[in-house]
Amino acid sequence: MLLKDKLFIGGRWVAPAGREAIEVHNAGNGEVMGRIPAGNEKDADAAVSAARRAFDSWSNTPPGSRSEFLEKISAGLKARADEIARTIAQEVGMPLKLSGRIQAGLPIANFANYARLLKDFSFEEKVGNSLVVREPVGVVAAITPWNYPLHQITLKVAPALAAGCTVVLKPSEVAPFNAFILAEVIEAAGLPAGVFNLVTGYGPGVGEALVRHPGVDLISFTGSTRAGKRISELAAQSVKRVALELGGKSASVILDDADLPAAVKSTVNGCYLNSGQTCTALTRMLVPEGKYQEAAKIAAEVARGFTVGDPLLETTKLGPLSSQTQLERVRGYIKKGLAEGAELVAGGAEPPANVPAGGYYVQPTVFGKVKNSMSIAQEEIFGPVLAIIPYKDEEDAVRIANDTVYGLAGAVWSKDEARAQRVARRIRAGQVDVNGGAFNMNAPFGGFKQSGHGREAGRYGLEEFLEYKSLQLKG
Ligand code: NAD
Repeated sequence: MLLKDKLFIGGRWVAPAGREAIEVHNAGNGEVMGRIPAGNEKDADAAVSAARRAFDSWSNTPPGSRSEFLEKISAGLKARADEIARTIAQEVGMPLKLSGRIQAGLPIANFANYARLLKDFSFEEKVGNSLVVREPVGVVAAITPWNYPLHQITLKVAPALAAGCTVVLKPSEVAPFNAFILAEVIEAAGLPAGVFNLVTGYGPGVGEALVRHPGVDLISFTGSTRAGKRISELAAQSVKRVALELGGKSASVILDDADLPAAVKSTVNGCYLNSGQTCTALTRMLVPEGKYQEAAKIAAEVARGFTVGDPLLETTKLGPLSSQTQLERVRGYIKKGLAEGAELVAGGAEPPANVPAGGYYVQPTVFGKVKNSMSIAQEEIFGPVLAIIPYKDEEDAVRIANDTVYGLAGAVWSKDEARAQRVARRIRAGQVDVNGGAFNMNAPFGGFKQSGHGREAGRYGLEEFLEYKSLQLKG
Protein backbone atom coordinates (compact mmCIF):
# COMPACT_ATOMS: atom_id res chain seq x y z
CA MET A 1 0.00 0.00 0.00
CA LEU A 2 1.28 3.44 -0.96
CA LEU A 3 -0.06 5.83 1.66
CA LYS A 4 0.62 9.49 1.03
CA ASP A 5 -0.82 12.00 3.48
CA LYS A 6 1.32 15.07 2.81
CA LEU A 7 1.72 17.65 0.05
CA PHE A 8 5.05 19.18 -1.02
CA ILE A 9 4.75 22.94 -0.51
CA GLY A 10 7.51 25.51 0.03
CA GLY A 11 10.21 22.83 0.20
CA ARG A 12 8.51 20.81 2.96
CA TRP A 13 6.08 17.92 3.25
CA VAL A 14 3.03 19.46 4.89
CA ALA A 15 -0.34 18.12 6.03
CA PRO A 16 -3.20 19.09 3.69
CA ALA A 17 -5.81 21.56 4.90
CA GLY A 18 -8.66 19.02 4.69
CA ARG A 19 -8.99 15.38 5.70
CA GLU A 20 -10.40 13.81 2.55
CA ALA A 21 -8.33 11.11 0.84
CA ILE A 22 -8.57 9.63 -2.67
CA GLU A 23 -8.18 5.89 -3.28
CA VAL A 24 -5.98 4.87 -6.20
CA HIS A 25 -6.68 1.54 -7.91
CA ASN A 26 -4.30 -0.98 -9.44
CA ALA A 27 -5.30 -1.30 -13.11
CA GLY A 28 -4.22 -4.95 -13.25
CA ASN A 29 -6.51 -6.27 -10.49
CA GLY A 30 -8.74 -3.38 -9.41
CA GLU A 31 -7.46 -3.44 -5.83
CA VAL A 32 -6.77 -0.26 -3.90
CA MET A 33 -3.01 0.30 -4.29
CA GLY A 34 -2.84 3.40 -2.09
CA ARG A 35 -4.25 6.75 -1.03
CA ILE A 36 -3.40 10.40 -1.64
CA PRO A 37 -4.71 13.65 -0.13
CA ALA A 38 -7.66 15.38 -1.79
CA GLY A 39 -6.24 18.89 -1.60
CA ASN A 40 -8.52 21.92 -1.55
CA GLU A 41 -8.50 25.67 -2.21
CA LYS A 42 -6.39 26.40 0.88
CA ASP A 43 -3.69 23.97 -0.28
CA ALA A 44 -3.74 25.53 -3.76
CA ASP A 45 -3.34 28.96 -2.17
CA ALA A 46 -0.43 27.86 0.05
CA ALA A 47 1.34 26.30 -2.95
CA VAL A 48 0.86 29.36 -5.18
CA SER A 49 2.11 31.66 -2.40
CA ALA A 50 5.23 29.49 -1.97
CA ALA A 51 5.83 29.55 -5.74
CA ARG A 52 5.42 33.37 -5.83
CA ARG A 53 7.89 33.85 -3.00
CA ALA A 54 10.45 31.66 -4.78
CA PHE A 55 10.02 33.32 -8.19
CA ASP A 56 12.31 36.37 -7.89
CA SER A 57 15.29 34.40 -6.79
CA TRP A 58 14.78 31.43 -9.17
CA SER A 59 14.14 33.65 -12.22
CA ASN A 60 17.43 35.42 -11.47
CA THR A 61 19.40 32.19 -11.02
CA PRO A 62 21.80 31.91 -13.98
CA PRO A 63 20.68 29.43 -16.68
CA GLY A 64 23.87 27.41 -16.20
CA SER A 65 23.00 26.77 -12.59
CA ARG A 66 19.33 25.98 -13.43
CA SER A 67 20.68 23.51 -15.96
CA GLU A 68 22.73 21.76 -13.27
CA PHE A 69 19.60 21.28 -11.16
CA LEU A 70 17.83 19.73 -14.16
CA GLU A 71 20.74 17.32 -14.67
CA LYS A 72 20.56 16.32 -11.01
CA ILE A 73 16.82 15.67 -11.28
CA SER A 74 17.34 13.55 -14.40
CA ALA A 75 19.97 11.50 -12.54
CA GLY A 76 17.66 11.17 -9.51
CA LEU A 77 14.85 9.83 -11.70
CA LYS A 78 17.26 7.45 -13.41
CA ALA A 79 18.28 6.01 -10.05
CA ARG A 80 14.60 5.21 -9.39
CA ALA A 81 13.70 4.13 -12.94
CA ASP A 82 12.61 0.58 -12.00
CA GLU A 83 10.32 1.86 -9.26
CA ILE A 84 8.82 4.45 -11.65
CA ALA A 85 8.23 1.80 -14.36
CA ARG A 86 6.53 -0.56 -11.90
CA THR A 87 4.42 2.14 -10.27
CA ILE A 88 3.09 3.38 -13.61
CA ALA A 89 2.54 -0.17 -14.93
CA GLN A 90 0.20 -0.64 -11.97
CA GLU A 91 -1.42 2.82 -12.09
CA VAL A 92 -2.00 2.91 -15.86
CA GLY A 93 -1.72 -0.70 -17.02
CA MET A 94 1.13 -0.44 -19.53
CA PRO A 95 3.18 -3.68 -19.75
CA LEU A 96 6.22 -3.40 -17.48
CA LYS A 97 8.97 -3.62 -20.10
CA LEU A 98 7.36 -0.92 -22.22
CA SER A 99 6.68 1.13 -19.10
CA GLY A 100 10.42 1.06 -18.34
CA ARG A 101 11.27 2.30 -21.81
CA ILE A 102 8.52 4.89 -22.17
CA GLN A 103 6.99 5.83 -18.82
CA ALA A 104 10.33 5.96 -16.97
CA GLY A 105 12.67 6.54 -19.94
CA LEU A 106 11.00 9.66 -21.39
CA PRO A 107 10.87 11.64 -18.10
CA ILE A 108 14.59 10.99 -17.49
CA ALA A 109 15.32 12.08 -21.07
CA ASN A 110 13.09 15.18 -20.81
CA PHE A 111 15.03 16.59 -17.85
CA ALA A 112 18.40 15.74 -19.45
CA ASN A 113 17.27 17.29 -22.74
CA TYR A 114 16.23 20.60 -21.15
CA ALA A 115 19.47 20.69 -19.13
CA ARG A 116 21.27 20.49 -22.49
CA LEU A 117 18.99 22.87 -24.41
CA LEU A 118 19.29 25.51 -21.73
CA LYS A 119 23.05 25.73 -22.20
CA ASP A 120 22.65 26.86 -25.82
CA PHE A 121 19.41 28.82 -25.60
CA SER A 122 19.68 32.51 -26.34
CA PHE A 123 17.52 34.63 -24.04
CA GLU A 124 18.05 37.89 -25.97
CA GLU A 125 18.58 39.35 -29.42
CA LYS A 126 19.08 42.81 -30.98
CA VAL A 127 16.30 44.00 -33.30
CA GLY A 128 17.11 47.47 -34.68
CA ASN A 129 17.48 49.79 -31.69
CA SER A 130 15.81 47.30 -29.35
CA LEU A 131 17.15 44.60 -27.15
CA VAL A 132 14.49 41.85 -27.13
CA VAL A 133 14.77 39.79 -23.98
CA ARG A 134 12.92 36.60 -23.02
CA GLU A 135 11.76 36.49 -19.42
CA PRO A 136 10.03 33.69 -17.51
CA VAL A 137 6.25 34.05 -17.51
CA GLY A 138 6.03 33.64 -13.70
CA VAL A 139 4.17 31.06 -11.63
CA VAL A 140 2.99 28.07 -13.67
CA ALA A 141 0.18 25.71 -12.68
CA ALA A 142 0.73 22.38 -14.42
CA ILE A 143 -2.36 20.15 -14.59
CA THR A 144 -1.73 16.70 -16.04
CA PRO A 145 -3.49 13.47 -17.12
CA TRP A 146 -2.92 9.82 -16.23
CA ASN A 147 -2.03 8.11 -19.50
CA TYR A 148 1.68 9.01 -19.73
CA PRO A 149 1.65 10.58 -16.30
CA LEU A 150 5.29 11.37 -15.60
CA HIS A 151 6.11 12.14 -19.23
CA GLN A 152 3.31 14.72 -19.36
CA ILE A 153 4.47 16.18 -16.04
CA THR A 154 8.13 16.44 -17.04
CA LEU A 155 7.26 17.95 -20.45
CA LYS A 156 5.92 20.88 -18.42
CA VAL A 157 8.02 20.97 -15.25
CA ALA A 158 11.44 20.62 -16.94
CA PRO A 159 11.02 23.48 -19.47
CA ALA A 160 9.18 25.67 -16.92
CA LEU A 161 12.09 25.36 -14.46
CA ALA A 162 14.56 25.82 -17.34
CA ALA A 163 12.80 29.07 -18.30
CA GLY A 164 13.07 30.39 -14.72
CA CYS A 165 9.42 29.85 -13.76
CA THR A 166 8.26 28.35 -10.50
CA VAL A 167 5.69 25.57 -10.59
CA VAL A 168 2.66 24.16 -8.80
CA LEU A 169 1.90 20.66 -10.11
CA LYS A 170 -1.56 19.08 -9.88
CA PRO A 171 -1.15 15.54 -11.25
CA SER A 172 -3.97 13.20 -12.21
CA GLU A 173 -5.75 11.63 -9.24
CA VAL A 174 -5.87 8.35 -11.23
CA ALA A 175 -2.07 7.94 -11.47
CA PRO A 176 -0.46 10.20 -8.85
CA PHE A 177 2.28 8.14 -7.19
CA ASN A 178 4.85 8.81 -9.91
CA ALA A 179 4.46 12.55 -9.13
CA PHE A 180 5.37 11.87 -5.50
CA ILE A 181 8.55 10.13 -6.70
CA LEU A 182 9.39 13.23 -8.76
CA ALA A 183 8.80 15.51 -5.74
CA GLU A 184 11.12 13.34 -3.62
CA VAL A 185 13.78 13.43 -6.34
CA ILE A 186 13.46 17.22 -6.60
CA GLU A 187 13.75 17.57 -2.82
CA ALA A 188 16.87 15.38 -2.82
CA ALA A 189 18.35 17.47 -5.66
CA GLY A 190 18.16 20.49 -3.34
CA LEU A 191 16.02 22.73 -5.56
CA PRO A 192 15.34 25.94 -3.57
CA ALA A 193 12.16 25.89 -1.47
CA GLY A 194 8.98 26.82 -3.34
CA VAL A 195 10.40 26.47 -6.86
CA PHE A 196 8.45 23.21 -7.29
CA ASN A 197 5.28 22.38 -5.34
CA LEU A 198 2.99 19.38 -5.47
CA VAL A 199 -0.71 19.45 -4.60
CA THR A 200 -2.97 16.48 -5.30
CA GLY A 201 -6.73 16.25 -5.59
CA TYR A 202 -9.67 16.36 -7.96
CA GLY A 203 -9.89 18.60 -11.02
CA PRO A 204 -13.02 20.53 -10.07
CA GLY A 205 -11.62 21.07 -6.54
CA VAL A 206 -7.94 21.90 -6.33
CA GLY A 207 -7.52 22.07 -10.14
CA GLU A 208 -10.07 24.86 -10.60
CA ALA A 209 -8.71 26.68 -7.52
CA LEU A 210 -5.34 26.88 -9.30
CA VAL A 211 -6.93 28.01 -12.56
CA ARG A 212 -8.82 30.81 -10.78
CA HIS A 213 -5.92 31.88 -8.56
CA PRO A 214 -4.74 35.46 -9.23
CA GLY A 215 -1.17 34.47 -8.32
CA VAL A 216 -0.85 32.02 -11.24
CA ASP A 217 0.43 33.45 -14.55
CA LEU A 218 0.09 30.47 -16.87
CA ILE A 219 -1.91 27.25 -16.88
CA SER A 220 -0.24 24.43 -18.75
CA PHE A 221 -2.87 21.74 -19.16
CA THR A 222 -2.88 18.30 -20.75
CA GLY A 223 -6.07 16.29 -20.65
CA SER A 224 -9.51 16.02 -22.18
CA THR A 225 -11.03 18.62 -24.50
CA ARG A 226 -13.96 18.85 -22.08
CA ALA A 227 -11.73 19.96 -19.17
CA GLY A 228 -9.64 22.14 -21.51
CA LYS A 229 -12.73 24.16 -22.47
CA ARG A 230 -13.72 24.64 -18.82
CA ILE A 231 -10.18 25.73 -17.90
CA SER A 232 -10.09 28.24 -20.78
CA GLU A 233 -13.37 29.79 -19.60
CA LEU A 234 -12.18 30.10 -15.99
CA ALA A 235 -8.71 31.38 -16.92
CA ALA A 236 -10.23 34.08 -19.14
CA GLN A 237 -11.62 35.81 -16.04
CA SER A 238 -8.08 36.80 -15.02
CA VAL A 239 -6.64 36.89 -18.58
CA LYS A 240 -4.15 34.13 -17.77
CA ARG A 241 -2.11 32.52 -20.46
CA VAL A 242 -3.29 28.97 -21.18
CA ALA A 243 -1.55 26.17 -23.09
CA LEU A 244 -3.76 23.19 -23.92
CA GLU A 245 -2.74 19.70 -25.06
CA LEU A 246 -6.04 17.89 -25.61
CA GLY A 247 -7.55 14.84 -27.29
CA GLY A 248 -7.29 13.41 -30.79
CA LYS A 249 -8.85 11.12 -33.38
CA SER A 250 -5.88 10.66 -35.65
CA ALA A 251 -5.98 9.14 -39.13
CA SER A 252 -3.46 6.81 -40.67
CA VAL A 253 -3.81 7.33 -44.42
CA ILE A 254 -2.62 4.29 -46.36
CA LEU A 255 -2.27 5.33 -50.01
CA ASP A 256 -2.84 2.83 -52.83
CA ASP A 257 0.89 2.38 -53.58
CA ALA A 258 1.92 1.75 -49.94
CA ASP A 259 3.44 -1.45 -48.53
CA LEU A 260 0.05 -2.58 -47.14
CA PRO A 261 1.17 -5.21 -44.56
CA ALA A 262 3.82 -2.90 -43.09
CA ALA A 263 1.46 0.10 -42.97
CA VAL A 264 -1.42 -1.86 -41.41
CA LYS A 265 0.84 -3.49 -38.81
CA SER A 266 2.35 -0.17 -37.81
CA THR A 267 -1.08 1.49 -37.62
CA VAL A 268 -2.52 -1.23 -35.36
CA ASN A 269 0.57 -0.93 -33.14
CA GLY A 270 0.11 2.85 -33.08
CA CYS A 271 -3.54 2.42 -32.12
CA TYR A 272 -2.97 -0.15 -29.36
CA LEU A 273 0.07 1.43 -27.64
CA ASN A 274 -0.73 1.79 -23.93
CA SER A 275 -4.04 -0.05 -24.58
CA GLY A 276 -5.13 2.79 -26.86
CA GLN A 277 -4.78 5.32 -24.04
CA THR A 278 -2.56 7.57 -26.13
CA CYS A 279 -3.63 11.02 -27.30
CA THR A 280 -1.84 10.53 -30.66
CA ALA A 281 -3.21 6.97 -31.17
CA LEU A 282 -3.87 6.20 -34.85
CA THR A 283 -7.49 5.23 -34.29
CA ARG A 284 -8.80 5.68 -37.84
CA MET A 285 -7.15 3.61 -40.57
CA LEU A 286 -8.03 4.93 -44.03
CA VAL A 287 -7.58 2.34 -46.82
CA PRO A 288 -8.41 2.37 -50.56
CA GLU A 289 -11.80 0.68 -51.19
CA GLY A 290 -10.18 -1.98 -53.39
CA LYS A 291 -7.78 -2.99 -50.61
CA TYR A 292 -10.32 -3.06 -47.77
CA GLN A 293 -10.66 -6.88 -47.51
CA GLU A 294 -6.90 -7.46 -47.45
CA ALA A 295 -6.30 -4.64 -44.95
CA ALA A 296 -9.05 -5.92 -42.62
CA LYS A 297 -7.56 -9.45 -42.72
CA ILE A 298 -4.07 -8.20 -41.81
CA ALA A 299 -5.43 -5.92 -39.06
CA ALA A 300 -7.37 -8.80 -37.49
CA GLU A 301 -4.25 -11.00 -37.47
CA VAL A 302 -2.15 -8.27 -35.87
CA ALA A 303 -4.87 -7.58 -33.28
CA ARG A 304 -5.05 -11.26 -32.31
CA GLY A 305 -1.29 -11.19 -31.62
CA PHE A 306 -1.87 -8.70 -28.78
CA THR A 307 -1.94 -11.05 -25.79
CA VAL A 308 -4.03 -9.41 -23.07
CA GLY A 309 -2.94 -9.84 -19.48
CA ASP A 310 -1.37 -8.67 -16.24
CA PRO A 311 0.93 -5.71 -17.02
CA LEU A 312 3.62 -7.16 -14.78
CA LEU A 313 3.90 -10.38 -16.85
CA GLU A 314 6.57 -10.74 -19.56
CA THR A 315 4.10 -12.36 -21.97
CA THR A 316 1.62 -9.45 -21.91
CA LYS A 317 1.41 -7.27 -25.00
CA LEU A 318 -1.81 -5.45 -24.12
CA GLY A 319 -2.35 -4.42 -20.51
CA PRO A 320 -5.62 -3.33 -18.89
CA LEU A 321 -7.22 0.10 -19.10
CA SER A 322 -6.48 2.46 -16.24
CA SER A 323 -9.81 2.49 -14.41
CA GLN A 324 -13.34 1.13 -14.10
CA THR A 325 -14.63 4.35 -15.69
CA GLN A 326 -12.41 3.77 -18.73
CA LEU A 327 -13.48 0.14 -18.94
CA GLU A 328 -17.16 1.04 -19.04
CA ARG A 329 -16.54 3.84 -21.50
CA VAL A 330 -14.57 1.67 -23.96
CA ARG A 331 -17.01 -1.25 -23.77
CA GLY A 332 -19.82 1.23 -24.32
CA TYR A 333 -18.14 2.46 -27.53
CA ILE A 334 -17.67 -1.11 -28.81
CA LYS A 335 -21.39 -1.73 -28.32
CA LYS A 336 -22.15 1.58 -30.03
CA GLY A 337 -19.98 0.62 -33.03
CA LEU A 338 -22.00 -2.59 -33.43
CA ALA A 339 -25.28 -0.72 -33.05
CA GLU A 340 -24.21 1.83 -35.67
CA GLY A 341 -23.64 -0.98 -38.16
CA ALA A 342 -19.84 -1.22 -38.34
CA GLU A 343 -18.41 -4.68 -39.17
CA LEU A 344 -16.70 -6.40 -36.21
CA VAL A 345 -13.39 -7.69 -37.60
CA ALA A 346 -11.71 -8.64 -34.29
CA GLY A 347 -12.42 -8.47 -30.55
CA GLY A 348 -15.74 -7.31 -29.09
CA ALA A 349 -17.29 -5.94 -25.91
CA GLU A 350 -17.13 -9.21 -23.88
CA PRO A 351 -14.29 -9.41 -21.33
CA PRO A 352 -11.19 -11.21 -22.65
CA ALA A 353 -10.42 -14.74 -21.40
CA ASN A 354 -7.68 -15.66 -18.91
CA VAL A 355 -7.09 -12.28 -17.30
CA PRO A 356 -6.77 -11.51 -13.57
CA ALA A 357 -10.09 -10.91 -11.83
CA GLY A 358 -10.97 -7.31 -10.99
CA GLY A 359 -8.63 -5.73 -13.58
CA TYR A 360 -9.88 -3.39 -16.30
CA TYR A 361 -9.27 -5.58 -19.37
CA VAL A 362 -10.81 -5.26 -22.85
CA GLN A 363 -10.28 -7.20 -26.06
CA PRO A 364 -8.15 -5.67 -28.80
CA THR A 365 -10.90 -4.67 -31.21
CA VAL A 366 -11.05 -3.80 -34.92
CA PHE A 367 -14.11 -2.40 -36.69
CA GLY A 368 -14.34 -2.50 -40.49
CA LYS A 369 -16.50 -0.65 -43.03
CA VAL A 370 -16.71 2.29 -40.67
CA LYS A 371 -18.31 5.50 -41.93
CA ASN A 372 -16.55 8.63 -40.76
CA SER A 373 -19.83 10.02 -39.42
CA MET A 374 -20.18 7.18 -36.86
CA SER A 375 -19.39 8.01 -33.23
CA ILE A 376 -16.57 5.41 -33.17
CA ALA A 377 -14.90 7.48 -35.93
CA GLN A 378 -15.60 10.90 -34.44
CA GLU A 379 -15.17 10.52 -30.67
CA GLU A 380 -12.03 9.75 -28.71
CA ILE A 381 -12.51 6.23 -27.27
CA PHE A 382 -9.15 5.95 -25.46
CA GLY A 383 -9.07 2.16 -25.71
CA PRO A 384 -7.69 -0.49 -28.13
CA VAL A 385 -10.38 0.06 -30.77
CA LEU A 386 -9.40 0.60 -34.41
CA ALA A 387 -11.83 1.88 -37.06
CA ILE A 388 -11.05 0.96 -40.69
CA ILE A 389 -12.56 3.48 -43.11
CA PRO A 390 -12.53 2.73 -46.86
CA TYR A 391 -11.98 5.72 -49.21
CA LYS A 392 -12.41 6.33 -52.97
CA ASP A 393 -9.32 8.32 -53.96
CA GLU A 394 -6.56 10.52 -52.53
CA GLU A 395 -8.83 13.57 -52.38
CA ASP A 396 -11.47 11.58 -50.47
CA ALA A 397 -8.81 10.28 -48.05
CA VAL A 398 -7.60 13.81 -47.21
CA ARG A 399 -11.19 14.98 -46.75
CA ILE A 400 -11.97 12.10 -44.34
CA ALA A 401 -8.70 12.55 -42.43
CA ASN A 402 -9.58 16.20 -41.79
CA ASP A 403 -13.28 15.58 -41.10
CA THR A 404 -13.01 15.67 -37.28
CA VAL A 405 -12.99 18.36 -34.61
CA TYR A 406 -9.50 17.19 -33.61
CA GLY A 407 -6.11 17.84 -35.18
CA LEU A 408 -3.43 16.25 -33.03
CA ALA A 409 -1.61 13.68 -35.16
CA GLY A 410 -1.72 11.48 -38.23
CA ALA A 411 0.26 9.19 -40.51
CA VAL A 412 0.70 8.78 -44.27
CA TRP A 413 2.01 5.75 -46.14
CA SER A 414 3.18 5.64 -49.76
CA LYS A 415 6.11 4.13 -51.69
CA ASP A 416 6.45 7.58 -53.26
CA GLU A 417 8.02 9.73 -50.52
CA ALA A 418 7.18 13.03 -52.26
CA ARG A 419 3.53 12.00 -52.57
CA ALA A 420 3.42 10.95 -48.91
CA GLN A 421 4.85 14.32 -47.84
CA ARG A 422 2.40 16.18 -50.09
CA VAL A 423 -0.55 14.40 -48.45
CA ALA A 424 0.97 14.85 -44.96
CA ARG A 425 1.09 18.62 -45.53
CA ARG A 426 -2.65 18.61 -46.29
CA ILE A 427 -3.55 16.96 -42.97
CA ARG A 428 -4.60 19.59 -40.43
CA ALA A 429 -2.73 18.19 -37.43
CA GLY A 430 0.27 19.06 -35.29
CA GLN A 431 2.41 16.01 -36.12
CA VAL A 432 2.18 13.58 -39.02
CA ASP A 433 4.40 10.48 -39.34
CA VAL A 434 5.53 9.85 -42.90
CA ASN A 435 6.13 6.17 -43.71
CA GLY A 436 6.60 5.30 -40.03
CA GLY A 437 8.98 8.18 -39.17
CA ALA A 438 10.00 8.01 -35.51
CA PHE A 439 8.90 10.19 -32.57
CA ASN A 440 11.32 13.09 -32.12
CA MET A 441 11.55 14.64 -28.66
CA ASN A 442 12.95 17.89 -30.07
CA ALA A 443 10.18 18.45 -32.61
CA PRO A 444 7.18 20.55 -31.53
CA PHE A 445 4.27 18.54 -30.11
CA GLY A 446 0.71 19.86 -29.95
CA GLY A 447 -2.59 20.21 -31.71
CA PHE A 448 -4.62 22.07 -34.32
CA LYS A 449 -8.35 22.71 -33.87
CA GLN A 450 -9.93 21.21 -30.70
CA SER A 451 -6.73 19.27 -29.92
CA GLY A 452 -5.53 22.45 -28.26
CA HIS A 453 -2.99 25.21 -28.71
CA GLY A 454 0.58 25.76 -27.68
CA ARG A 455 3.49 23.41 -28.29
CA GLU A 456 5.54 21.18 -26.02
CA ALA A 457 8.96 19.52 -26.42
CA GLY A 458 12.35 20.83 -27.50
CA ARG A 459 12.98 24.57 -27.70
CA TYR A 460 9.33 25.11 -28.70
CA GLY A 461 8.30 23.79 -25.27
CA LEU A 462 10.76 26.09 -23.52
CA GLU A 463 9.41 29.13 -25.39
CA GLU A 464 5.91 28.41 -24.00
CA PHE A 465 7.15 29.52 -20.58
CA LEU A 466 8.74 32.80 -21.71
CA GLU A 467 7.46 36.33 -22.28
CA TYR A 468 9.01 38.76 -24.73
CA LYS A 469 10.17 42.15 -23.48
CA SER A 470 11.54 44.91 -25.68
CA LEU A 471 14.05 47.37 -24.27
CA GLN A 472 14.14 50.35 -26.63
CA LEU A 473 17.71 51.61 -26.54
CA LYS A 474 18.82 55.14 -27.29
CA GLY A 475 21.67 53.99 -29.51
P1 NAD B 1 -9.07 14.88 -17.73
O1 NAD B 1 -9.32 16.11 -18.53
O2 NAD B 1 -10.20 14.22 -17.08
O3 NAD B 1 -8.04 15.22 -16.56
C1 NAD B 1 -6.76 15.79 -16.79
C2 NAD B 1 -6.34 16.56 -15.57
O4 NAD B 1 -7.18 17.70 -15.43
C3 NAD B 1 -6.44 15.80 -14.26
O5 NAD B 1 -5.38 16.18 -13.43
C4 NAD B 1 -7.77 16.28 -13.70
O6 NAD B 1 -7.85 16.18 -12.31
C5 NAD B 1 -7.76 17.73 -14.15
N1 NAD B 1 -9.08 18.35 -14.31
C6 NAD B 1 -10.24 17.76 -14.72
N2 NAD B 1 -11.23 18.68 -14.74
C7 NAD B 1 -10.68 19.86 -14.36
C8 NAD B 1 -11.20 21.17 -14.17
N3 NAD B 1 -12.48 21.46 -14.38
N4 NAD B 1 -10.35 22.14 -13.76
C9 NAD B 1 -9.06 21.87 -13.55
N5 NAD B 1 -8.51 20.65 -13.69
C10 NAD B 1 -9.31 19.66 -14.09
O7 NAD B 1 -8.26 13.93 -18.70
P2 NAD B 1 -7.69 12.45 -18.37
O8 NAD B 1 -8.85 11.52 -18.41
O9 NAD B 1 -6.81 12.48 -17.18
O10 NAD B 1 -6.73 12.21 -19.63
C11 NAD B 1 -7.17 11.73 -20.82
C12 NAD B 1 -7.30 12.86 -21.83
O11 NAD B 1 -6.08 13.56 -21.98
C13 NAD B 1 -7.62 12.34 -23.21
O12 NAD B 1 -8.63 13.14 -23.79
C14 NAD B 1 -6.32 12.51 -23.97
O13 NAD B 1 -6.44 12.62 -25.35
C15 NAD B 1 -5.75 13.72 -23.34
N6 NAD B 1 -4.30 13.77 -23.53
C16 NAD B 1 -3.77 14.68 -24.40
C17 NAD B 1 -2.42 14.73 -24.61
C18 NAD B 1 -1.82 15.73 -25.56
O14 NAD B 1 -0.65 16.02 -25.45
N7 NAD B 1 -2.56 16.28 -26.48
C19 NAD B 1 -1.58 13.87 -23.93
C20 NAD B 1 -2.13 12.96 -23.05
C21 NAD B 1 -3.51 12.92 -22.85
